[in-house]
This record gives sequence, structure tokens and C-alpha cells, in this order.
Amino acid sequence: MPPIRLLSPAVVNRIAAGEVVERPSAALKELLENALDAGATDIRVALENGGKSLLVVEDNGHGIAADELPLAVERHATSKLTDDQLVDIRSFGFRGEALPAIGAVSRLTLTSRNSAITVSGGIVEPVRPAPPHSGTRVEVRDLFYATPARLKFLKSDASELSACVAVFEKQALAQPQVRFTLTHHGRSLRTLPSAATFQERATTLLGADFVAASKEINAVRGDLKLRGLVASPTFNKANSTSQYVYACGRPVNDRVLFSAIRAGYADVLSHGRYAAVLLFLDVPPEQVDVNVHPAKIEVRFSDAAAVKSLVIGAIREAVTATAGAFAHALPLRPASYAPATTSAAPQRAM
Ligand code: ADP
Ligand code: MG
Repeated sequence: MPPIRLLSPAVVNRIAAGEVVERPSAALKELLENALDAGATDIRVALENGGKSLLVVEDNGHGIAADELPLAVERHATSKLTDDQLVDIRSFGFRGEALPAIGAVSRLTLTSRNSAITVSGGIVEPVRPAPPHSGTRVEVRDLFYATPARLKFLKSDASELSACVAVFEKQALAQPQVRFTLTHHGRSLRTLPSAATFQERATTLLGADFVAASKEINAVRGDLKLRGLVASPTFNKANSTSQYVYACGRPVNDRVLFSAIRAGYADVLSHGRYAAVLLFLDVPPEQVDVNVHPAKIEVRFSDAAAVKSLVIGAIREAVTATAGAFAHALPLRPASYAPATTSAAPQRAM
């Protein structure tokens, strides 16, 4: 057996990159979070080859001082944790891991204020002067060129692009006040002007028919707050891709929340069907652990039962209301309206 040795920082960063940025859309998510954490109100994304050869995120946030650029690309360096407790996290980032991980596997350039820094395959170049830039421009070229094994696993440009668009839309849904644009090879794919309300952004991104078929919810239970749009059960499909769920502004894939949505619709929707929802759950930061997943898409609630019952209750109430409204909208023969679960039930002769 060879002796135990410490891994070099370059290898450590490549390993981290495998978890944090396993494909272009994951890198995009991290860069969008950084722009939002910087207070940006205008975020421009430009991609080429589905983000594989080029991924640029430009923002008008507070920027990075020249002397802090080397720290920004150093592992475990962050401006977002002011103490060593992990109990009160109010920013999207906190691990100080994304930029060094991306820099370890690509050609990364950060430009902010009057300076720029480049990291290629983990090699950090000295800070150099650059044309003035308000906010920050982050350019990622040739993602995974430094890790050919990972490069091989990337999918076609089209599927990497659609994963990037999905990440972009998920972030944009939760930040209606921020203007977002997305281009691919210079062609505009999405232009989202700053919106006054989440309903307005949802109309642009999810469609006016979804918003029209939905009931707005606004529920409070102690410290927990839930708001959003809950579609009528008729607005359903065979997978959960139209269920947008956020905890403290983060898009999450949380089992507690998804099972609560299923339970909320259980009486009106057959098994395997998913109604469209847009849910924003706000929990005090100290009641949620966001440090359970490298890409921060899972969270843990200190009172999962309370979260669950809030979601179930709010959906049930909304669904009863929409089902009722829908039935009234049918002028004749209310018996012809049947919730999906009972569609096979015999209709009584009148
Ligand atoms: P984290 O977001 O967890 O702190 P990152 O590696 O993503 O870690 O970023 C490291 C640091 O670089 C951040 O803490 C922040 O200070 C700075 N930074 C990164 N992106 C931006 C940006 N777009 N605008 C301003 N500062 C940024
Ligand atoms: Mg970050």
C-alpha cells in the first residue's frame, strides 16, 4: 500500500467540482446565485454550445475589489458567512466553493471594477487591469476541459441548453424584480423585464393559462409563510416538471414539500398525475438547514411536520375553491365535471 498523502489543492478542487458543478446548468445556478447575492437587478446570461464552450453571467451588483479577486477564486473563501455558525444563512452562497471548483475544471475569468483574474484548470493567474466594469462579469470557457472523464458525460448541446434554460427560469421565477436575459450564440432566448409581482413573472414564464387556472394562496402558520399559485386539478400532467417549489427563495427538490403537494391534491387527482404549482415557502433561517447538499437543492426543516401541514392545508383549501369555480363555469350538467380520481365513477341518471 502506498503511504497516505494529502491531495493537492488542484485535485481537491476538481473533486469538489464533480459535486458542485456536474454540468453547465449547475455552474449557471452558482453564478446566478452569486449575482443575486451581490444585489444585482440586471443579470445577463450568454451561452454557447449549451454552456459547454462558453457560459457568461454579467450582473450590475456590488462587484469585487481588485485585492479580493484572488480570494474569490480560492477554496473556502466567502464574504457571506460573518461568523462560524451555520445557523443564520441569508445568502444563497456560503461555502466559498463554486468559483474555485469552476476554475479547477475550466478557463474562468472574473472581471469587476477595473480588474480581472483568470484561473485555468486550477492555475490562478495574477490580477490584471481591465476596462472598467460596473458589477461583475464571470466568463466560463470550456467547462471540464481539465477533466476529460467528466467532459465525456456531458449530453448534447441541446440537452445541456435545456437544463440551463430550466435553471435560469427557476431562478427568475423567484426574483421577479430582477431583469434577466438569456442568449445562445447571440440569439435571444428569454428577455424578462423587471416585474412588479411574482404573478407577472409567472405569466411570462409559465403562461397566462396557468395563472388563469390557478388560485393564489397566502397562508401563515406561526413563523412559516406560504404564498404562490396552485393550479386547478384539471391543469395536470404525468410528471412534476410544472411544480416549482422554493424554500427561502431557493429552488428546492425537497421530499417533504413534494409529498405535501401530492397529499394536498390526493382527493382530486389520480396517482401519477401532478398539478402545476408555484410555491414560495418562507422559513426563518435558523429553522432550516441548507447545508445538506453540495448544490444546495435539498434542505432540512427543523419542524417538517408543521411545513407539511401548512402546505397540505393551503393546497386543499385552494383546490376546493378552484374545483368549485370550475364546476360553476360549466353552464350545464354539473355531473359531467368529475375530478380526475372519480372520472370512472358511474354518473347517476337525473
Ligand atoms: P460563495 O458564494 O459560497 O461565497 P463563491 O465561490 O460562489 O462562494 O464566491 C466566492 C466569493 O466571491 C463570494 O463570497 C463573493 O464575495 C464573491 N463573488 C462571487 N461572485 C460575485 C458577483 N457576481 N458579484 C460580487 N461578488 C461575487
Ligand atoms: Mg456562490
